[in-house]
Amino acid sequence: MKILFFSIALFICSSIDAKIIEINYFNESIPYLTQDTLFILDIDDTLLVPKQMLGSDMWFEDRIKQQKGSEAFEKTLNEWEGIRHFTQMQIVEPGTQKTIEDLQKKKHIIIGLSTQSLTLSKVTFHQLISNQIDLRVTAPQENYYFQNENKGVLYVNGILFTSGTSKGKALFQLLEKTKQRFKRIVFMNDKGSHLADIEKEAEKNHVEFFGLRYGYSDFRKKSFDSRIANIQLYRSGFTQILSDEEAKALVQKNP
Ligand SMILES: [Mg+2]
Repeated sequence: MKILFFSIALFICSSIDAKIIEINYFNESIPYLTQDTLFILDIDDTLLVPKQMLGSDMWFEDRIKQQKGSEAFEKTLNEWEGIRHFTQMQIVEPGTQKTIEDLQKKKHIIIGLSTQSLTLSKVTFHQLISNQIDLRVTAPQENYYFQNENKGVLYVNGILFTSGTSKGKALFQLLEKTKQRFKRIVFMNDKGSHLADIEKEAEKNHVEFFGLRYGYSDFRKKSFDSRIANIQLYRSGFTQILSDEEAKALVQKNP
């Protein structure tokens, strides 16, 4: 009995201490939100994902490896941004729209945060709207442009676009401008490394932090197929990107 009691106590303590938590479904985030919480949502692979493999985060990483040399990153980034202007995006987990809307009705402050560059700010906003996600509802209303690590970052329509610079530093610069203080920050992201960046800045600023590593996309990421994405890249007209099924049929026809 004693052992059981101590194991339960240890479990409770370690769950309170744990700052990075693994979740698989969007609504698992709800218990971490209080009225003094800023709830921050990553966009790619957390809210939205391209309808096909081409243009996804997995494709981006794969494509950098294919394009050798010092310009590989820049080249891939340009291609990725081009594709993002044409691709249709879909919701990562069905039902997320409704959960966000319910939280906004309860006056929870929610903003989006992305390493995307400023050039994508309008496109991404419209892609969210067409998937019934409007991050303007409870987010700070004023727009801001400022420098972060020598690059321009933009906060617009409830989303902070950090142009590849530190998310944590950009976020706390924004909060200084909006003159908001939160007791707690909850950040949901499919990538653990991005959570650590905000955790570090939250600690510096004495704000309680919970990082939710969101695993809903993990299965889809594992099924990424470089051959299919390459067919989509080379055989699509950019006004109509080949679907995964169409590209798969071409791979099977011509392995
Ligand atoms: Mg992401």
